[in-house]
Amino acid sequence: MNTPAPPPTDNFRMLIRQASALCVVVHSLYIALFAWAQVDGLAWLNVLSVATHALAFHLSRPQGHLRAATLLLIGEITVHAIAATVFVGWHTGFHYLMLPVIPVAMLSSSEHATLKNTIALCLSAIYLGLDGWSDQNTPLYVLNGTLQDLLRYQNIVTLLLAFIILSRGYYNVVTQAQAALARQASTDPLTGAINRRGLMEIGRAELHRMRHARPPKPGETEPPLALLLCDIDHFKRINDTHGHKAGDLVLQDFHRRALGVTRSSDSICRWGGEEFLILLPDTDKAGALQLAERLRVAVNSAPFTTGSAELQVTVTVGVSILGKDESLMDAVHRADKALYRGKRAGRDQVVGSPETSLLAEQQTN
Ligand code: GH3
Ligand code: MG
Ligand code: MG
Repeated sequence: MNTPAPPPTDNFRMLIRQASALCVVVHSLYIALFAWAQVDGLAWLNVLSVATHALAFHLSRPQGHLRAATLLLIGEITVHAIAATVFVGWHTGFHYLMLPVIPVAMLSSSEHATLKNTIALCLSAIYLGLDGWSDQNTPLYVLNGTLQDLLRYQNIVTLLLAFIILSRGYYNVVTQAQAALARQASTDPLTGAINRRGLMEIGRAELHRMRHARPPKPGETEPPLALLLCDIDHFKRINDTHGHKAGDLVLQDFHRRALGVTRSSDSICRWGGEEFLILLPDTDKAGALQLAERLRVAVNSAPFTTGSAELQVTVTVGVSILGKDESLMDAVHRADKALYRGKRAGRDQVVGSPETSLLAEQQTN
């Protein structure tokens, strides 16, 4: 849960890569078809197209030139549609391939809105122009009916495949944007730790898993869930003496040290100011106290470097174990009480909260 989010994949790059790969395959089939029909001129023209799309594929690799690849792809398909309509006619269906190019141009992440709108409008105008031209003119070559049908079906199949690639690309863009927003909404921007909202979500999911997904069998206790509430000691003094920036660096370094001593299934939350709440699933009291002690030592055993100064920092930690049927906030409250006992007793220490059953006994006595 504390592992950093993977870098966002470049969906548009992937889209151009898949589209240019599809074009290489499709244009290779055109070469075969035109060679079989002995229309050598068009077969050679398609050799040029294959080379262009192979170059677009090469340019769309991660260290390549995505804008050049996009323009090559859009340009080749448009020129190809114009040339094919003029040479072999509207009914061969090469114009279909221009249709998915419009959403490709609009999806481009690297261009300005005006340029994208202009490209989309130009493509639409060319499409209508080709339709109008075909009504008034006959193509330069009249292909036999079988070849015309084969080309039209191939172009329709290509159009459908292009729409599948496009829809998948669009779906990836939207779902990854949603995931990035959700991550931002539950992350503290200063330290990268989970924020309070994120922790409450994880906590609710963890409680559900413990109590409902696999409820304990009769006689079995539910798996323990431990909470560590950590408060950096005399943090105000650090700000007052060394400045707010130094305080921020201490918070970031504290988070790094906490990451160093916890497991990937634990969740570290910046609970507020200089307080961090750590959620430890499947951890009993002994394990939680041990981990809290390891964190305390990780903080006070090496000074925090803040550029201008090396600071000796300490932390006080309150530990509680979630009681049966207890809410997460009740357990946080008990950890908070333990923490303040630690503060009063001189700071730089770990204090465990009494168990809830013990508390109940104390309250009834
Ligand atoms: P104690 O040992 O009793 O916890 O004392 P303390 O000084 O740590 O506690 P106090 O609550 O008096 O001070 C907390 C300070 O943390 C005050 C506040 O300005 C500072 N603080 C809160 N958020 C941030 C932040 O994001 N960056 C920095 N640099 N300081 C912060
Ligand atoms: Mg505090
Ligand atoms: Mg403090």
